[in-house]
Amino acid sequence: MMAADALSIQGISKVFGRPGKPTVEALRDINLTIREGEFVSIVGASGSGKSTLLRIIDGLLPASSGVVRVGGAAVNRPGADRAMVFQQDALLPWNTVLDNVAYGLVIGGARKRDAHAVAQRFIEMAGLKGFEQHYPHQLSGGMRQRVNVARALAVDPKILLLDEPFAALDAQTREIMQGELLNIWQKSRTTVLLITHQIDEAVFLSDRVVVFSARPGSVREEIPIALPRPRALDVKRSAEFGALVDHIWHLIEHEVRTAVAENLA
Ligand code: ADP
Ligand code: MG
Repeated sequence: MMAADALSIQGISKVFGRPGKPTVEALRDINLTIREGEFVSIVGASGSGKSTLLRIIDGLLPASSGVVRVGGAAVNRPGADRAMVFQQDALLPWNTVLDNVAYGLVIGGARKRDAHAVAQRFIEMAGLKGFEQHYPHQLSGGMRQRVNVARALAVDPKILLLDEPFAALDAQTREIMQGELLNIWQKSRTTVLLITHQIDEAVFLSDRVVVFSARPGSVREEIPIALPRPRALDVKRSAEFGALVDHIWHLIEHEVRTAVAENLA
């Protein structure tokens, strides 16, 4: 039997209307399919609608047209089949790491003992063994994001949605986290859709990189990444890696420069 598509996005468009202001066309006719177990990234300039698309997939925002299916079922509200990790961590400061990771399971009705057993497994997968009883303020930024990823995976979503999860981290921590995320993904085999504006991050992590055009966001090109797995950070120094990054950069360079100029204006 052929594996079902984990995610199918068909003809998604989004126009924001604000009273007394011109409408903003954020997304135009997005079509994208992600297979089960695949790791796909979307890269695009700031303002190209990446977060808008992720919020539509998560069911936080209605599309203006089109349909999103997860595991074949159309979605229009948040559900346990999708888990999102944002740039800012969303941990409960008064809960331990263990209770934070178990949180979604407990909310979903699991008994605390069972939830803790599952949480423990994902804490170890995320390399956080020994920190179960720590509180978020006792952890580094990189560790907090690992807790967020563990918490998202603990509910066993059909797809993990990541919106610039490492953007608030310093450059070195960010590199380490990319390697950590690959380790976790290799063990969990969850389907992942990652949004980033960092091209080398997308190439390093993904089976496929989807390049967005500037506003309104649309799919400009899909680039398969055939780099062998498992990948270590030194693959970033290979010629093949450099050629992929160059190719994607040339696709969006003009739009990134325009976005920067608009922000400076
Ligand atoms: P990205 O994540 O790629 O930087 P966003 O999805 O955040 O882009 O935004 C895409 C465009 O939609 C931007 O021009 C942004 O200003 C606009 N936008 C996002 N959310 C809203 C909203 N709630 N109302 C009006 N415009 C919005
Ligand atoms: Mg964004």
